[in-house]
Amino acid sequence: MARRIGIDLGGTKIEGVVLDDAGESVARRRVPTDQQRGYDHIVETTGGLVDALRELAPECARIGVGTPGAISSRTGLMKNSNTLCLNGRDLPGDLQRRIGLPVVVENDANCFALAEATSGAGRGARVVFGVIMGTGVGGGLVVDGKLWSGPQHIAGEWGHHSIDPHGPTCYCGQRGCVESLISGPAVQRQYRDRTGIEVTMDEIVARARAGEPAAREVFDAFIDRFGRAVANLITILDPEAVVLGGGLSNIPELYAQGRDAAARYVFNDELRTPIRRNVHGDSAGVLGAALL
Ligand SMILES: [Zn+2]
Repeated sequence: MARRIGIDLGGTKIEGVVLDDAGESVARRRVPTDQQRGYDHIVETTGGLVDALRELAPECARIGVGTPGAISSRTGLMKNSNTLCLNGRDLPGDLQRRIGLPVVVENDANCFALAEATSGAGRGARVVFGVIMGTGVGGGLVVDGKLWSGPQHIAGEWGHHSIDPHGPTCYCGQRGCVESLISGPAVQRQYRDRTGIEVTMDEIVARARAGEPAAREVFDAFIDRFGRAVANLITILDPEAVVLGGGLSNIPELYAQGRDAAARYVFNDELRTPIRRNVHGDSAGVLGAALL
């Protein structure tokens, strides 16, 4: 197998990696996205990054790009990206014209799931659900080593399952989406609503551990809702592994009390599904892009 190139196109940085035939990273570069300079600038910067990496991988025949959002199967254009200038644009086509090689663009949570299923915490499992929990909540599904993104490119989007029809309004238009309840900003908002104080998620977790009543209440609700949402996806898919990524995946309670909560809500008398912390950390997105 030849060397591969993967690109992680994020809102603040664009990272590129060259993997050798064993899947090891042999080169890595990072440049700022500078999204305020617009779409053409992002295409040109990404192209320049690929040009540099191709010197180390001349045999590379196509480029994998992971980014928030998805390609609309109706229009072929980007949608749902938080780098707003990408939306409505033909990102794969424009990159392909700039680079001169076929380009595959995939959702970054899907890239995370692919990397963890292939060489990370889900290695060896046939069906892996990769969960992203951070400023947003997303996910991806890998079956037999291949990404299952679905005919509408929405597979794995558990962040926009409603688990409370009376919950807060989400930017997607629904109420009580998982993302609007258990993302970092959502939990911070719940704490602020109770106390009038704006603190980081880490601080809320620390205060909950110290027994502060408001933090405890918010944190217990976070754990319970995590359990309910994960139980829903386990009941539907019964994956062989669930791998957690994103900033909130560093909270150890998710793997203990969070798992117990999932066991309470799953449609089974036991919960055998492993819920594991990711192995690749922040690199999962770019590694998964190289595997596309
Ligand atoms: Zn939503």
